[in-house]
Amino acid sequence: MQLYNTETRRKEEFTPLNPKEATMYCCGPTVYNYAHIGNMRTYIFEDLLARTLRLSMPLKHVMNVTDVGHLVSDADEGEDKMEVATAREGKSAWDIAKFYEQKFFEDFDALHCTRPTVISRATAHIPEMIALVKTLEEKGYTYRTSDGIYYDTSKFPRYDALVGRSRLEGLKGGARVEMSEEKRNPTDFALWKFSPKDKKRQMEWDSPWGVGFPGWHVECSAMAMKYLGPTVDIHCGGIDHVSVHHTNEIAQSEAATGQKYVRCWVHGEFLVLRAGKMSKSGGTFVTLQTLRDKGYDPLDYRYLCLTAHYRTQLEFTYESLDASRKSLQTLRREAAKAVQTAARQPLPLTARLEEIKNKFRAAMEDDLNAPKALAVVWETLRGAELNAAEKVEFLKFADGILALDVFRAPQEENNEELPQEVKDLLARRAEARAAKDYKKSDELRAALAAAGYAVKDTPQGQQTEKIK
Ligand code: AMP
Ligand code: ZN
Repeated sequence: MQLYNTETRRKEEFTPLNPKEATMYCCGPTVYNYAHIGNMRTYIFEDLLARTLRLSMPLKHVMNVTDVGHLVSDADEGEDKMEVATAREGKSAWDIAKFYEQKFFEDFDALHCTRPTVISRATAHIPEMIALVKTLEEKGYTYRTSDGIYYDTSKFPRYDALVGRSRLEGLKGGARVEMSEEKRNPTDFALWKFSPKDKKRQMEWDSPWGVGFPGWHVECSAMAMKYLGPTVDIHCGGIDHVSVHHTNEIAQSEAATGQKYVRCWVHGEFLVLRAGKMSKSGGTFVTLQTLRDKGYDPLDYRYLCLTAHYRTQLEFTYESLDASRKSLQTLRREAAKAVQTAARQPLPLTARLEEIKNKFRAAMEDDLNAPKALAVVWETLRGAELNAAEKVEFLKFADGILALDVFRAPQEENNEELPQEVKDLLARRAEARAAKDYKKSDELRAALAAAGYAVKDTPQGQQTEKIK
């Protein structure tokens, strides 16, 4: 499989360190608020990667849940967002984390993202984080300020590994503006923060340096290495994590172990709105529930994500979501047609089936080219290269990766925009047909015609067409 590695800035052939099992770590959600559909785009691309890798190798996939330590400001200032949420919602920090974690996984499952092999909560790994900070302290990478234990980035020569030297200089310039006087370098970051003296935090732990809580970056390093060892094959996240979070993870992990931390860094581009960044505060915060409330199915959104390569920005619009929803319905109708035809004429499977499967697989294994893989699906369904039975087999295979529920019965098209009177007639007719009361069914067909609608019975249910 070819994967683009952010660190080497090129596509590389990926082979796992241990041929028996590849390892992958994905930065998980911060659970002080709902996830937005931008966050979910990243989990969808990571799921595509996991599913594609599993075609050729077993995979151990670890994802964390950040339930502590995510500060309001990137400069290690301000409060922990979890503690801020307790004030906002009048609940305990533990309850907030539990609530949003549950909501997150509801969305995760609804989007057909495969559950990781290990899901690790930061609050359940404080001893591992403390141990990592202690190692860094013993090796001379840390210093103490009035508010915590910090990592001295000037001591780690490979600090520019992900961003490159010139961009790092720019980032340092930006960070200098917000830099506290006690920091030695603008890029230094907190490994352990002390609890404020005047306030009791809800989430705090004892440590060799005083009561406090871990820095966000140290969480991922500690958990990734606990479950996957000092060297992880693949580490994923959104593109925003490159310059700070993942750069800091490399610094901590490699300084502690003396070994390469990640062999291949894979980052997904952002979902953006025409108005700009998706922001929790700016009223431009779209969740999967927002889409459900507007009548979309979560998989309509998954389809939309598959139409763009993970390394290109995707602009979210309701027009493009509508188009995806329509395509998915058409795909399901084509799938139903193939199933029916195959049942009527069960032709044998030929070698051509493997060829087409491989074409699909090659697109996915070429740095997860989902748009190309989708194009293979469309060409195959519309073309005559495969017989219907082969099309069904091919779709089963492709849906193992796409996870779009292609064999689900398509919704009765356009029925939702029908007048209420017509919807009622359709519902009564469906009931009559279920009860095999064909006389009643025919009467209702006439009533529908009188209301201006012809009705057709298809394997996917009643379909209407407006007649004048
Ligand atoms: P967070 O819960 O904010 O830490 O984000 C969870 C994941 O979503 C991380 O991998 C982020 O990089 C990613 N992410 C955040 N915003 C977006 C966005 N607009 N589009 C795609 N991914 C995003
Ligand atoms: Zn992380």
